Amino acid sequence: MIANYQRSAHQLAQTLYNEGIRNQKVLDAIASTPRHLFVDSVLQHKSYQNTALPIGLGQTISQPFIVARMTELLLSYGLNQKVLEIGTGSGYQSAILAQCFDMVYSVERIKSLQWQARRRLQNLDLHNVKMKHGDGWKGWQANAPFDAIMLTAAPSEVPSALLDQLSVNGVLIAPIGEQQQYLTLIKRTTQGFSKDILEPVRFVPLVAGELL
Ligand code: SAH
Repeated sequence: MIANYQRSAHQLAQTLYNEGIRNQKVLDAIASTPRHLFVDSVLQHKSYQNTALPIGLGQTISQPFIVARMTELLLSYGLNQKVLEIGTGSGYQSAILAQCFDMVYSVERIKSLQWQARRRLQNLDLHNVKMKHGDGWKGWQANAPFDAIMLTAAPSEVPSALLDQLSVNGVLIAPIGEQQQYLTLIKRTTQGFSKDILEPVRFVPLVAGELL
């Protein structure tokens, strides 16, 4: 299976197409990314299924459909230069973003996950991703503003620092809520912010507090 990952990854992209993903850059990125390298070896046989999987420390690698959906939504606004991801986790979403945006910045609060993710991206020669061990509630001020911001962990409301770090005409996508979460799209205009609430989703919480 692993020797044949291209075929499995291609089939996964086909599944996502069948489920409604249409952006060719996103589909190509899914088809060319070895997802089995982003999970523990005992879970590799499930790595090309369209499901979330545990990555340790109570965290998960997101379901491929939601990875593709959120990336496609951001790209639909026509901005593909700088994207900030909050919640690096396995690094799989970062790898997909790296193939769709010029520059990716990603923040993770658990150092061991951040290290593993960094190594994976280096091994895949994805050098346009900068990673930081830090608190995503604060974003990454030194590299702001961002054209696009994606949260892959759910806060109860959008952190205000992230809104501040969004460029004018930029767009932020995040799961928002506690028990019940909704995918939420926020667009910054010269007038302020507009908000669209999309479908229900399920992500791990965006943790407030100390770094691990
Ligand atoms: N994008 C990831 C999904 C990982 S799950 C992937 O493709 O694998 C969400 C991640 O958000 C977890 O790794 C978790 O540790 C991280 N996270 C939670 N709260 C955070 C915070 N306040 N700051 C930064 N990262 C956070």
